[in-house]
Amino acid sequence: MDSLPDLPKLNKLNEQHIMIISGKELSLKIKAQLKVQVTELEKKYGRAPHLVVILVGEDPASQSYVRGKAKASEEVGIKNTTILKDTSITQEELLDIIAKLNVDNTVDGILVQLPLPDHIDEPTIINAISKEKDVDGFHPLNVAALWMKQPCTVACTPKGIIKMLDEAGVDIKGKRAVVIGRSQIVGLPVAKLLLDRNATVTICHSRTKDLPAVCREAEILVVTIGRPRFVTADMVSDGAVVIDVGVNRDPETGKLCGDCDFAAIEPKASVITPVPGGVGPMTITCLMENTIECFIRKMEK
Ligand code: NAP
Repeated sequence: MDSLPDLPKLNKLNEQHIMIISGKELSLKIKAQLKVQVTELEKKYGRAPHLVVILVGEDPASQSYVRGKAKASEEVGIKNTTILKDTSITQEELLDIIAKLNVDNTVDGILVQLPLPDHIDEPTIINAISKEKDVDGFHPLNVAALWMKQPCTVACTPKGIIKMLDEAGVDIKGKRAVVIGRSQIVGLPVAKLLLDRNATVTICHSRTKDLPAVCREAEILVVTIGRPRFVTADMVSDGAVVIDVGVNRDPETGKLCGDCDFAAIEPKASVITPVPGGVGPMTITCLMENTIECFIRKMEK
């Protein structure tokens, strides 16, 4: 392998020796490694991995995510094609595009940016993407394989969270982990990955009784709710590892903020992730990694 470029120090310990995991800087490190890997793959197989992203409509947040995916692809040398479609597209037309991409030998990964307009059924679209090209890891066959501990594409955000814990040197084994939120894309798969690493996992949701008390038991607390600064300092025990997945607009300042009250929790935690610059960049980086993995599996078949 070529030598890697100099990179900034990954995680900073503040005055109280609390580690703030920079997903942004860890992403830079991983993307530099992926770039070297893509160059080698291109030499070996004659072409770079190819990711196709489909965006329906003009939702500004979705447009920004899709731009981020194109930029990251460019950074690591993955070929990126973005297909833009008007909201007037029918479900059948979208399914037709996916069917063609599924059998296109020059395409390794397919991602349909969610959410989709109301007249398109998201599960139908996700199910239509071939398991082998499902770089998001949302296809039921990939989800089932994850739960059955079989080879699969793991959803990007949970995968990135585990990488961040590893980077911070958190020993997951035997720890009490609490996940707040049970979404298919983050809460459930991250709980499974923590379980696979031998944490004792509790999953909380909107009907959980005495949520603060459950959270205080957590040595590792993963929060994926979607409510600005919902988790307060009194819900976090001293020395806890806190991973904040939420991406919200602060109702007062309009700035991005997480699901955790970072300023109040930081002095109590041993490890914490910021928003922005925490889990978000790792999600896109893991999408790059998933695309490369799909490419390799296809080429080695
Ligand atoms: P989601 O599908 O929006 O679901 C929210 C979850 O939070 C649900 O399980 C819900 O419980 C739970 N919840 C809501 N209010 C609660 C409360 N008062 N107490 C306890 N639990 C509560 O979740 P998501 O898709 O995981 O998204 C969560 C946040 O993460 C959003 O801000 C999203 O933008 C962000 N996100 C970030 C990334 C990234 O890369 N950084 C990736 C994905 C998502 P019920 O099941 O009972 O309704």
